[in-house]
Amino acid sequence: MNFDFTDEQKLFAESVRKFALAHLAKDALKRAHDPRFPFDVAKLMHAQGLMGITLPEADGGVGGTLMDAVIAIEQVAAVCPRSADVVQFGNFGPIRTFAEYATPAQKERWLGPLLKGEMVISLGMTEPDAGSALTDLVTNARRDGDAYVVNGSKVFSTFSPDAQIFLVYLRYGPGLDGIGSVLVERGTPGFTIGAPSRFMSGEEWSELHFENCRVPADNVLLGPGGFKKQISAFNVERLGNCARALALGRYAYERAREYVSTREQFGRPLCEFQGLQWKFADMAIKLESAQLLLYRAASNADRGLPSAYETAVAKAACNQAGFDVANDAVQAMGALGYSSETLVEYCMRRCRGWMIAGGSIEMLKNRIAEHVFDRRFDQRPPRAKPQAAE
Ligand SMILES: Cc1cc2nc3c(=O)[nH]c(=O)nc-3n(C[C@H](O)[C@H](O)[C@H](O)COP(=O)(O)OP(=O)(O)OC[C@H]3O[C@@H](n4cnc5c(N)ncnc54)[C@H](O)[C@@H]3O)c2cc1C
Repeated sequence: MNFDFTDEQKLFAESVRKFALAHLAKDALKRAHDPRFPFDVAKLMHAQGLMGITLPEADGGVGGTLMDAVIAIEQVAAVCPRSADVVQFGNFGPIRTFAEYATPAQKERWLGPLLKGEMVISLGMTEPDAGSALTDLVTNARRDGDAYVVNGSKVFSTFSPDAQIFLVYLRYGPGLDGIGSVLVERGTPGFTIGAPSRFMSGEEWSELHFENCRVPADNVLLGPGGFKKQISAFNVERLGNCARALALGRYAYERAREYVSTREQFGRPLCEFQGLQWKFADMAIKLESAQLLLYRAASNADRGLPSAYETAVAKAACNQAGFDVANDAVQAMGALGYSSETLVEYCMRRCRGWMIAGGSIEMLKNRIAEHVFDRRFDQRPPRAKPQAAE
C-alpha cells in the first residue's frame, strides 16, 4: 500500500499552496468574520482552475479527481480557513449534485456562472420537522400544465442569503419514491427568503418559503424516485464537509504548535511541559488517523461518487478529530486561542457545526452500525401489529 502523493499530486498541492499564499493569506482573518460569500475568492479560484476540479472539461470543469479536490481544500485551508468554503462550493456542494444530474439545458444556463464564481447555489433539504429524518420532508410539487406548483419551507440552508439558485428537495408523491428535486431561482413569484439568522460559526442562513410557487417543469433536477441518486451525490458533499473539518483542525493545531514552541511560562517554553506534549501527541494521532480514512474514501471514488460506508466512517472520524483538535488548540493557546485575534477559535466554532451538518455524527454511526451488523436498523418506532379479528 502506498500512502505517498503521486508527483502530479505533489505539484498540484504546491501550486495551490503558492496561489493561497499569494492571494488569500492577507485577508484571512477578515474573511473569516464576514458572513457574505467571498465572490472575489471564487473568481480567483476559477482563474486558478480550482472550481469544478472533478467535473469533465466538456462541462467547464478541470477533469481531475476527488482526491485533487481534497488536496485543494487542505492547501487553501492551511492559509485561509474561510476560503476552503469556496473550494467546497465549487467542487463538493450542491453544484456537484447539480452537475451530475442536470439536463444539458440546465447546465448551459447555470453551470458556467456557478463555476466562474458569479452566482451561488444553496441546498434546501432540511425542514422544520425533517432534519435527521430527512425523508419526512413535506415540501411538495404538484404538476400544473408546464410547471410545478411548490409549497413548503426549508431551514438552515448554507449560503441562502447570497444564493441566486436553490436546489430544493421535495416530494411529488408519497413515500421514498415520491422524493426528487427542483431548481428554484431567487425572485420566482411565491418564493420568499427570510431575514438571515446566524449559526455559532458566524455563517448565515435564511428560511425559505414556497407558497404556490410556480417552477417551470424544465427546472426539475430529479423526478420521483430521485432520492437515492441525490444521496449518492451528497456523499461528495460529505467528503468536502469532513475535509474542511480536518483541515481547520490542522490549521488550529499548527498555530497552537507554533505558539507552545515559543511561548514561555515558568521560565521555559510551554512545549517542555509533558502535559502539553501528550496533548499534542493525541492531536497528531487524531489528525493522522482521520486523514487516512478521508484519503481512502476520496481516492477509492476516483472520478465517481464515493462509497456510502467509507464516507460515513471518514466523516464521523474527521468531524470528531477536527473539533477535538481545534478545541485542544484553543486550550493550548490560553486566552489568545480564545480570542478573535487568531483564527483558532474560529476553526473550533466551524468544526462544531460540521458534527451536525450533512449527516450528524450520530446518524453516521447508525449507518456504520448497519454495515457492522450487515442489517438495517429502522430508526422509526415499530408499527403496531394488526389486531386479529375476534
Ligand atoms: C453548519 C450547518 C450547515 C447546514 N447547512 C445546510 C444546508 O446547506 N442545507 C440544508 O438543507 N440543511 C443544512 N443544515 C441542516 C442539517 O442538515 C441538519 O441540522 C441535520 O440534518 C440535523 O437535523 P436537525 O438539526 O433537525 O437535528 P435533529 O434531526 O432534530 O437531531 C437532533 C439531535 O438528535 C440526534 N439524532 C436524531 N435522530 C437520531 C437517531 N436516529 N439516532 C441517534 N441520534 C439521533 C442528532 O444526531 C442530533 O444530535 C446545516 C446545519 C448546520 C449545523
